[in-house]
Amino acid sequence: MKTELTGMTRAELEAWAKEAGLPAFRGRQIFEWIHRGEDFDGMSSLPAALRERLKETAAAQPVRIRTERVSALDGTVKFLFALEDGNCVEGVLMRYHYGFSLCISTQVGCRMGCRFCASTLEGCVRNLTAGEMLGEVLAANRYLREKGGEDGQAPRVSHVVLMGSGEPLDNYDQVMKFLRLLREPGGIQLSLRNVSLSTCGLVPEMRRLAEEDLPVTLCVSLHAPNDEIRRRTMPVANRYAMDEVLEACRNYIRKTGRRVIFEYALSEGVNSSEENARELASRLRGMQCHVNLIPLNAVKERDMKGVTEKTVSRFLRTLEAEHISATRRREMGDDIEGACGQLRRKTMQEETLRNADRG
Ligand code: SAH
Repeated sequence: MKTELTGMTRAELEAWAKEAGLPAFRGRQIFEWIHRGEDFDGMSSLPAALRERLKETAAAQPVRIRTERVSALDGTVKFLFALEDGNCVEGVLMRYHYGFSLCISTQVGCRMGCRFCASTLEGCVRNLTAGEMLGEVLAANRYLREKGGEDGQAPRVSHVVLMGSGEPLDNYDQVMKFLRLLREPGGIQLSLRNVSLSTCGLVPEMRRLAEEDLPVTLCVSLHAPNDEIRRRTMPVANRYAMDEVLEACRNYIRKTGRRVIFEYALSEGVNSSEENARELASRLRGMQCHVNLIPLNAVKERDMKGVTEKTVSRFLRTLEAEHISATRRREMGDDIEGACGQLRRKTMQEETLRNADRG
């Protein structure tokens, strides 16, 4: 196994360089090249012989774009990222007026078991390392650089959301390491104010996160107004009651001064009635929060349905009438299997079919 240099801080790379018999400044140079998205071949300030040696023993860019699909509707790009061990994960690049936002994965698969989600169908294969998460961002930056900016300036990812496959708080240490890497001096220097972390509601880790002094936006997948409905679709609701989740959110708001975002995927006959909206409002009253509504994206392997536009507007109006801040989340990349886990599954299935054909 090659040494993964991508997840190392500048200080760690300096120490690593010294141990490898190199001057510390080589570690610093490698750190900066990595964050610029370069592999060893492109690290032009390093001697050629050193680059060759490093290629044999270390990995600088552990994530490659295996396939990409561009939405004809809005230019959203869906990536399938290849990892060094042959696994792959998904990422989605969206263009907004404020810049480019990249949705990244934190695990290969997921073990949370939400009934509507495609990422969790085969459980969790493994955690991603901090270096792999950074590698997703660097791969997207290379993609943007190759495409070039309209004004000749290479655009870069300015916002990151941890909403791809995986439960970020189930891979706590590597996710924290990744967040710290984002703001290392000399690195890609992405402000943590531009980072959102989404959790299905792991209460102890939400409380830990509040103490980290990492000013990310916390998003919580609620998807229900009460425990009874939540338990029907999210196994994690059997571990933590909604009251405990909401108390952990209040704690996060108190500690960080930041509002919490609740995600709510509407499903016909499950959580989308006016009564559900009123109950949700009563649970959230007085909280510094915002609700993001989306119609549930029906996944082939799952029996849950989405809702009509009319149902979304009715739910939204009811929340607004109760003075709860809410919006309907813009759906992007609807034509390219934008929803979690769908592209990875499809590619893996197509591959299995092709292999079966050959065999
Ligand atoms: N594990 C984290 C982050 C990954 S999922 C979490 O649960 O928040 C990102 C978001 O997509 C979550 O809100 C998740 O509930 C939602 N999601 C998953 N499958 C979906 C589907 N089929 N339709 C709509 N939203 C879905």
